Amino acid sequence: MSTESLRIVWIYPDLLSTYGDRGNLLILARRAQQRGMPVEVLEVRSDQRLPATADIYLLGGGEDGPQALGAQRLLADGGLHRAVAQGSVVFGVCAGYQLLGTSFFAKGTRCAGLELLDLSSDRGPTRAVGELAGEIDPRLGVPPLSGFENHGGRTHLGPGVSPLARVSAGIGNDGVTEGAWRGKLLGTYSHGPALARNPALADLLLRWATGAHQLPPLDDTWAERLRTERRAAVAAAARP
Ligand code: GLN
Repeated sequence: MSTESLRIVWIYPDLLSTYGDRGNLLILARRAQQRGMPVEVLEVRSDQRLPATADIYLLGGGEDGPQALGAQRLLADGGLHRAVAQGSVVFGVCAGYQLLGTSFFAKGTRCAGLELLDLSSDRGPTRAVGELAGEIDPRLGVPPLSGFENHGGRTHLGPGVSPLARVSAGIGNDGVTEGAWRGKLLGTYSHGPALARNPALADLLLRWATGAHQLPPLDDTWAERLRTERRAAVAAAARP
């Protein structure tokens, strides 16, 4: 951690905060506090400078216009690139995931991404809407992903990143893989919000940020109930 408290930045709540993705901030802060870690939360609007000294940066989903504007402002600001160079954790969801790559499509135009992840996004034949599930890369030691997706883009991974998961329901990147990660940067199409539905993923980010090998377990009864209920819904929908 960079200071005595865990500093979490929610990037551009005025642009990138659809489908309840701000919940990811609440979950991370709460799970850190429950482990006795002091937490400092900074919500940085798109007309403000991004501090480069935080431990975790969160990007949420957004419609095409706000996504394109958000990427432009982050490129002009440079703070996120400095933070990544210093080893900060970045977690991006949907629009916030796409814009970490080299390019993405918004309103029919190819837009420059931040080039922090080796991936690019274009448009798919249909909008991907519904449950998203998959087996997460075993190296991350996290149980299967459970989420909800709603996006028009499709994402193509380069050799410099690993897929976050293999898709078992939904589309994710392209119907085969979902999300991507490299170092302490991780992106997903999962809303829900993702970290409420996948508490082990929240703890992975907290471990990356703090350097802890293990964190004391928490009571995840409610999250597990939701995961079980959603798994059953996905299985029921797949039945002929
Ligand atoms: N605008 C992007 C797309 O449709 C991202 C959507 C989102 O963040 N939900 O692919």
